[in-house]
Amino acid sequence: MQESNKIFNDNFAVRLFELSPYPALLIDGERFVECNRAALQILGYDDRVSLLNTHPSDISPMTQPDGESSWCKANRMIAIAQEKGTHRFEWVHKKADGSTFVAEVTLSAIVLDAKQLIYCVWRDITEQAKANEALARSEMKLRILYASTRDAVMLLDEKGFFDCNKATLDIFDCPSYETFYALHPSDLSPETQACGTNSLVLANQYIQTAMKRGSHHFEWLHKRATTGQVFPADVLLSAMELDGKRVVQAVVRDITERKRTEETIRQMAFYDTLTNLPNRRMLEDRLQQAITLAGDSSGLLSLLFIDLDKFKQINDDMGHEVGDWLLQQSAERMKLCVRNSDTVARIGGDEFVVLLPNIFVVEDAVNIAEKIRLEMEQPFVCCEDQPLSISASIGVVIYPEHANNIRDLLRHGDMSMYHAKKGGRNAIRVFSFSS
Ligand code: GH3
Ligand code: MG
Repeated sequence: MQESNKIFNDNFAVRLFELSPYPALLIDGERFVECNRAALQILGYDDRVSLLNTHPSDISPMTQPDGESSWCKANRMIAIAQEKGTHRFEWVHKKADGSTFVAEVTLSAIVLDAKQLIYCVWRDITEQAKANEALARSEMKLRILYASTRDAVMLLDEKGFFDCNKATLDIFDCPSYETFYALHPSDLSPETQACGTNSLVLANQYIQTAMKRGSHHFEWLHKRATTGQVFPADVLLSAMELDGKRVVQAVVRDITERKRTEETIRQMAFYDTLTNLPNRRMLEDRLQQAITLAGDSSGLLSLLFIDLDKFKQINDDMGHEVGDWLLQQSAERMKLCVRNSDTVARIGGDEFVVLLPNIFVVEDAVNIAEKIRLEMEQPFVCCEDQPLSISASIGVVIYPEHANNIRDLLRHGDMSMYHAKKGGRNAIRVFSFSS
């Protein structure tokens, strides 16, 4: 190389240039006039002759990734280096076999033997470019997910919110991002939560928990910013590090619909759909609780078994719809005869049971049964002011006097009601072991 080299006269510099593991080239005007072995190697050329006197665009694709032609861009880059002294940029080169690689190119204006040249060094950054591209793609994917999810996703630090997606504005009914960032988290919750605890106190506790454990998942009552409407939400707080700062990401899902469905399912499982009274299952649950409480306090409790008299006749004479209406009206009347702590349940067609969980003497239960019997005797005014008359037969059973478990209480209550029917209806019978 030494003999054929026309540019370098200094033997040491030539060897340094030639042996450098980094591709290095010299540009005179806009053409390569020298290159080292590493440059030939990376391009896949056998000898320098193929490279010398070429323009950078000859070893590049027609255009660069930004769309500018390699010819124009190369000249522009050289001009900048000449003007500023040095210039660094990314460039896509083409190898002898047609494949490409991305290089970080550094052009430096130098003077060699009174000649203005450009010293050019390449660093192959194909792998780094690939990694950057993959990172950009994954960031884009995350951005799309962030923007398109129906859950509200927001970031907050100790100063408040500093980022959120579009769903956040929708869920919290906020007109703009600026309005949202100006809000304090406590502006988005009612004063207290369902458990009665102050929202701010509880929110701080939950944030601390998320910071300590990494995340915290819970249900929360939120408030819409404009209307102030309170709604139930499922919240996931995740602590994370962002730009060297500890921040919390909150993902909020509006669960109004889910709660409504859960309530309907609960209602269907424990309540009678016609009268909205507790059904047999709910009655048995409450009876079990009442028995436990009565056991602790050595108190009494009573069940009143109420069956409407000759109800079938109403259905037959007036139609099923009137029968339904009468069942609903009967339920309302029975509720008016008892206290809030008592339970009126519908356990079958025209069969109702009243649970009196707190009585002192048997007469208390009989008095309430009598109140109900008298109330049921009063005519019901249906369509066209036509009064409807009905009556009820009531059996009374006392815990623990007549039975000490749910099954026997229900059985004995039913038996005493049957005796009231047998005795002529519109009557009350207290259970007796002898009858
Ligand atoms: P008794 O005095 O012996 O009780 O005579 P009853 O006609 O009331 O006979 P029973 O209590 O055995 O029958 C209750 C009837 O209630 C049977 C059924 O036709 C009617 N029934 C049951 N469920 C419903 C309902 O949801 N709506 C209406 N309208 N009728 C019902
Ligand atoms: Mg009946």
